Amino acid sequence: MTERLRIGLVYPELLGTYGDRGNAEVLAWRATGHGLVAEVTEVVAGDPVPPSLDVYVLGGGEDAAQATAARLLGSAAGEGLRRAADQGRVVLAVCGAFQLLGKVYLDSRGREIPGLGLLDLETAAGIRRLVGEVVTITREGELLTGFENHGGRSFLGPGLEPLGRVLHGGGNNGDGTEGARRGAMFGTYLHGPVLARNPALADLLLRTALERRGRQLGPLQAAGRDPAVDLHLARLQAVLPREHRLR
Ligand code: GLN
Repeated sequence: MTERLRIGLVYPELLGTYGDRGNAEVLAWRATGHGLVAEVTEVVAGDPVPPSLDVYVLGGGEDAAQATAARLLGSAAGEGLRRAADQGRVVLAVCGAFQLLGKVYLDSRGREIPGLGLLDLETAAGIRRLVGEVVTITREGELLTGFENHGGRSFLGPGLEPLGRVLHGGGNNGDGTEGARRGAMFGTYLHGPVLARNPALADLLLRTALERRGRQLGPLQAAGRDPAVDLHLARLQAVLPREHRLR
C-alpha cells in the first residue's frame, strides 16, 4: 500500500514571505519522488489548524502579520498545531514563524508578541536587519544554504539545540548558531524556499514523519541525477570559499 503524507500549509497569507509557501509544494514534490502520495492542505488564516496532519509548514512574516498570526495560533484555532507538536508531528517554521514557536518576540516597535512557547527561545528586534546569504552545517554534517532577512535576534535557552552552526551569514543573533530543533520541530531563518535549496533537509523531515508511523523513507524513484542537488551545490558555490565546499 502506498504511504500517504499529509502536509499542512499554515496561514500562508500571514506567514508566507519570500516564497516560503513553496516549502509545502517542494516537500510534496520530494515525497512523490520517494514514492509517497502527498497532499497539501492550505489552512486559511483564522481557520482551526487540523491536529492530525503529518507535517506543518509555516513561513516568515513581517511584524504586523506576525502579531496577527501569533494571536490566532495562540487561540483555540491554533490548538491543533500545539497538539500536533506535542505528539511529535513534524513542524517546519521559517523566520517569523520560528520566532513565534518561542516564548516571546519583542518587535521593532517594542511590542511584546507572545509566542506559542513550543521552543525555549526568545527574540528581540535588533537595530539593523540581518540580510544576505547564509550557509550552516547541521549535526548530520549537512551544509544548509538559504538567505535571511530579519530584524529579530533569537536567543536559544539552555539545552535547545540549534539547527546548524553558521559558516557564512548572521543566523540567530551573530553567536554562530542558526535556527533550532527539538524532536520533530525544526526552526530556521533560512528562506529560499529552504527545502528547495536543501534536499537533505527535506528528506530529514520526510524520514522523521514516516518514522513516527514506524515506516522508513524509501529511495528516490527516479534514476539519475537529483535535480535538487544541483541547485544546492550552485548556491553553496556562490557563497562558500572552495575549501568549505568539498564536504
Ligand atoms: N518580522 C520578523 C523580523 O523582522 C521576521 C521577518 C521574516 O519572517 N522574514 O525579524
